Amino acid sequence: MEIVKTNHPETKTTCAYCGVGCGISVSVLSDENRKIIVKGDRTHPSNLGKLCSKGASLDETVGPATRLLNPEIDGKTVSWETANSTIASRLQHIIDEHGADAVGFYLSGQLLTEDYYIANKFAKGFLGTGNIDTNSRLCMSSSVAGYKRAFGEDTVPTCYDDIEHSDLITLVGSNTAWCHPIVFQRIKHAKERNPALKVVVIDPRRTDACDIADLHLPLKPGTDTSLYSALFNYLNEQSLLDDDYIAKHTENLQLALDVAEQHTPTMEHAATICGLSSHQVKAFCHLFAASDKPLTLFSQGVNQSTYGTDKVNAITNCHLATGKMGKPGTGAFSITGQPNAMGGREVGGLSNQLAAHMDFTPQDTDRVSRFWNAPNIATQSGLKTIEMFEAARTGKIKALWIMATNPVVSLPNADLVKEALQRCELVIVSDCVANTDTLDLAHIKLPAQGWGEKDGTVTNSERRISRQRKFLNPLGAAKPDWKIVADIACTMGFSNAFSYKNSADIFREHAQLSGFENDENQSFRLFNISQLSTLTDTEYDNLSPTQWPITLEKPAGTERLFHDGIFCTESKKANFIPIKYKKPAHQLDKDYPLCLNTGRIRDQWHTMTRSALAPKLNAHKPEPFIEIHPTTASQFNVAENTVVKVKSRWGEMLARANITTTIAQDQVFVPMHWNDQFASKGRIGPVVNPDTDPVSGQPEFKHTPVNIQPAKFKWYGLCFSRNSIPLSAAAYAIKIPAQNVYRYELADFQALSHWEHWLTRTENSVMVKEPSLEYSDAGNGIFRWALLSGEKLEFCLFVQPTPIDLDRPWLTKLFDKETLSDAERTSLLSGKTPPDVEDTGQIICACFSVGAKTIQKAFANGCRNTIEIGESTRAGTNCGSCIPEIRTLTGC
Ligand code: SF4
Repeated sequence: MEIVKTNHPETKTTCAYCGVGCGISVSVLSDENRKIIVKGDRTHPSNLGKLCSKGASLDETVGPATRLLNPEIDGKTVSWETANSTIASRLQHIIDEHGADAVGFYLSGQLLTEDYYIANKFAKGFLGTGNIDTNSRLCMSSSVAGYKRAFGEDTVPTCYDDIEHSDLITLVGSNTAWCHPIVFQRIKHAKERNPALKVVVIDPRRTDACDIADLHLPLKPGTDTSLYSALFNYLNEQSLLDDDYIAKHTENLQLALDVAEQHTPTMEHAATICGLSSHQVKAFCHLFAASDKPLTLFSQGVNQSTYGTDKVNAITNCHLATGKMGKPGTGAFSITGQPNAMGGREVGGLSNQLAAHMDFTPQDTDRVSRFWNAPNIATQSGLKTIEMFEAARTGKIKALWIMATNPVVSLPNADLVKEALQRCELVIVSDCVANTDTLDLAHIKLPAQGWGEKDGTVTNSERRISRQRKFLNPLGAAKPDWKIVADIACTMGFSNAFSYKNSADIFREHAQLSGFENDENQSFRLFNISQLSTLTDTEYDNLSPTQWPITLEKPAGTERLFHDGIFCTESKKANFIPIKYKKPAHQLDKDYPLCLNTGRIRDQWHTMTRSALAPKLNAHKPEPFIEIHPTTASQFNVAENTVVKVKSRWGEMLARANITTTIAQDQVFVPMHWNDQFASKGRIGPVVNPDTDPVSGQPEFKHTPVNIQPAKFKWYGLCFSRNSIPLSAAAYAIKIPAQNVYRYELADFQALSHWEHWLTRTENSVMVKEPSLEYSDAGNGIFRWALLSGEKLEFCLFVQPTPIDLDRPWLTKLFDKETLSDAERTSLLSGKTPPDVEDTGQIICACFSVGAKTIQKAFANGCRNTIEIGESTRAGTNCGSCIPEIRTLTGC
């Protein structure tokens, strides 16, 4: 990554990926060629100029290659007028025949707040269906439910500045180092500046977040409530409760304590349930008890659980009991996955919310109906995500409109989701990309504007509203998502309510609704940004990142909430919630003896539709993999680097074995990202059980009983091709885009002797050409084949009966060259680096493409710590996300 100085004007915007919500400065070098330079925005309070590998690679993702450019109906390009009138008449027909509840919407945390607001207003206010949910249901709906139960409203009480104020940071179910890297860097630097700051990681896996941990508790999946009940009991037994705070500001303590004592009577009991030693449980309790300013950050390991809401409340109970909530450095902090999951929560993007933090009470329904002038408003909660797709499968939902997300990959029991879309009468998908597993099943495809083209606001984990600004012209006929919906609403006769001139218009209305009848006498909601309801277009354009509430009393926003102990319940007191430890619905058994945990990796995002466009992000973890403990691997006859079939009662997939002691013996981990565009059988979604949290409806992604077995392949292949080849070419086929070539990892169950025949299956132009270089050892099943055009390498294929250990980074780089040297030509079919070229090894630092062998060499040559390795190789000197891995590699 080169830092390029430019005279081009900079546009300040925000990152398209995670809920950290980093500010970005973009310079456009060429709109036509989609050349931009991306830098961290030093003035944005959430990242102060830093970006992780994903944010820093956004410049590689704005090209036209994968974009959906025009509306399509049944595979044919149509005009917007045709698309609008078709959708309007088909939706109206379905509503007339079956009622409004036969229509469902599935939205995304990728949408901007303005998009979300319009979709929600259209569905709930004008079509009259409550069936509008969002992929945030998969991400943090347990936090929403937990906050509502404890505080009376979905409100994150904390902010990132608390990191520097805290003396104990506990990361629960959060590989912050990979999933929220800039927050992790901030914790790391806070600890470097203040060695007294303790860090605890509570996670079944030893993730990179443990790199800075003073204590790691590798508890069994799903047992967090027991650990926190033990802490709750301990604080009570040691008379460490803040009696004054509890009396003035909370309710139901005794009931919650009674239940905790009954279900988790001793630390030993908790230790047994959690699979920890009593010493570990005590160590955590002592650290929390000794802390004046404990801050608990939690993420998907807490939320994505059958009892995720209980986990959130087990945490809030301990903070409330000690009065450590809302003060600098303290509190229970849900860090969200998606860039605008919080904005979705604000507008009512979840089916059990109405709008602007109002629910489906008769009073709120009446209030919102009057504000929108919407006589047909939905009067009750709609279906939550899993219920909605099931309703589509069984025919209750006849029309589904999916925006900016890919549920065929990301939902649990995902093959059933596929079936639901296949059966659904009308599937509309609006997206900025042309091919996803979900778009493949759409009857109508609508091109949406992508990052850099659209204009609006997002809210990050700390309630900070930031502008996402347009800096590129839209491609093709793409429109903003809000405009796509508003135009159809107008076509259906609702033009009085949907004739907006721009996103500022929508934002003003959203801000106005947040303040509408919002007072103690009518309906008090903390979510109130009414101070922004009179922004001019120019003021909206220049809006600085600000944390809500933003009101007349707090025009510059509000850093923390509940510092005064006043909550949003009717009594204004926070609730203690009685929590019992419960086991996940599906337990391990002899047929499915391992617990599958799923999650994210450092350099990919969601279902890879954007991040896989950046070649350097594909280099770190290029294939779907499964982490397996060495003892388990040996028990199941799995060798490192071979391919494993992962099977549950619901489905199966294939992943490369990564044998590691960072995971416990009865558990395995598989990342969530791979889809049918990049892997022939790499979707983990079909394997994941469909259980959900009974309160929040959030699916259980962290505990599915599975079995594993080695895939008995007859051959393994490694292929490089300048043209894309179909993934049907082999049972196991992984596509890994690089700068100038696609790399394919292949394997198949069928033996093949005639490789020329197999090449025809690749539908590649090379099939008709004679190889430039060829090596065949049929007796040993070895075949190597390369094609050059002049001196330029076009294609190569390596096949053998066992997993292939060749220098992939070197082979990839050969495709960057116009001319191969004699040495390169000579070495090509060996797949080994020529003697005068450095073998860099697997990429560790994505920002500067530094490989493992380069790092190890620097260490061997005398670099003694990560700073010296960074000075020598540049590894770890940009975002720092790879530093834990550098330390693991070198032991320094
Ligand atoms: Fe984007 Fe990375 Fe910041 Fe998340 S941490 S917002 S992915 S730059």
